[in-house]
Amino acid sequence: MADAPVPARPKTAIPRNPGRHELGMKATLLFPDREIVERFYVPLVYTACRTCYSELEPQEIFRRARDGEIAPASMQRLISNVVESGHGSTIEHIVFTFALSGVSRTLSHQLVRHRAGVAFDQQSQRYVKYKGAATMLPGTIAEADPALRSRYEEQVDGALGLYADLVDAGIPGEDARFVFPNATRTNLVMTTNLRALIHMSGLRLCTMAQWEIRRLFQLMRHEIFEVSPFLGSFLAPKCVALGYCDEFNNRDEHCPIRPHKDTVLAVWAQKKAEAKAAGRDLPVSQP
Ligand SMILES: Cc1cc2nc3c(=O)[nH]c(=O)nc-3n(C[C@H](O)[C@H](O)[C@H](O)COP(=O)(O)OP(=O)(O)OC[C@H]3O[C@@H](n4cnc5c(N)ncnc54)[C@H](O)[C@@H]3O)c2cc1C
Repeated sequence: MADAPVPARPKTAIPRNPGRHELGMKATLLFPDREIVERFYVPLVYTACRTCYSELEPQEIFRRARDGEIAPASMQRLISNVVESGHGSTIEHIVFTFALSGVSRTLSHQLVRHRAGVAFDQQSQRYVKYKGAATMLPGTIAEADPALRSRYEEQVDGALGLYADLVDAGIPGEDARFVFPNATRTNLVMTTNLRALIHMSGLRLCTMAQWEIRRLFQLMRHEIFEVSPFLGSFLAPKCVALGYCDEFNNRDEHCPIRPHKDTVLAVWAQKKAEAKAAGRDLPVSQP
């Protein structure tokens, strides 16, 4: 008996671009500035890359790079090739420090899950008395049925009101904070090397990432572009560097940035079968 046809699942939608909403959060690149990036950062990464392939000492390679004896385009070409080949240690020599403010605890909890090549310091809910704690209102709730939105706001305001009453009654802040909602805003300083920043951006600029953290990485990418369009160009959803999407939840390809890997593998399998049927070797990729 033939199998019953499987009903086609409706495609899920890409979450609306969070960049369209003003979320009241800020990401500011504290260090380095454009001059430092141009004078030191690109020459430093170039020196790390070139040292692997040169008889020259790194001191001399760096001197030449810093003193303008190597064309910037030639430095960039080598760096791009090395990064694309996955030789990631070469870009661990440079770091970026961001001030992040007004993000929700929902976001910060996701952000601090990154461990490799990144350091965080975050506003303490033990030591800071949140007299006027600010919160984040998601766009979907802002645009929801007004009655629902009011209930959300009452709930959040109620929690913050209870926090203030607890503190006023002498309850330590470290205990009173247990009532804080995930919407509570917070501030952090984050320092990351370029390799980790590219990795985090690959995950967090992806349309599968949660809207708020995606917006944060859009802001950070903008800051990097301000000091170096070249280094900023490496910050993209991971599918851009991979050439395909590996997200399980995008098997329906509702996000069109790159084909899903299942599609790529299916095309490969078909070409392999065609080549076999024609008595040929496997198809050879064109340069
Ligand atoms: C869309 C999305 C949904 C998510 N959903 C969930 C969820 O539902 N629940 C949940 O708990 N988390 C979730 N996460 C968080 C996720 O599982 C990771 O914890 C987080 O993205 C940190 O990334 P990372 O593991 O690459 O760590 P990073 O610290 O950024 O590490 C960078 C890379 O270094 C290497 N590395 C780091 N540490 C080690 C180690 N100890 N051993 C070996 N290699 C290491 C790995 O190659 C790693 O990819 C989600 C993340 C995203 C982007």
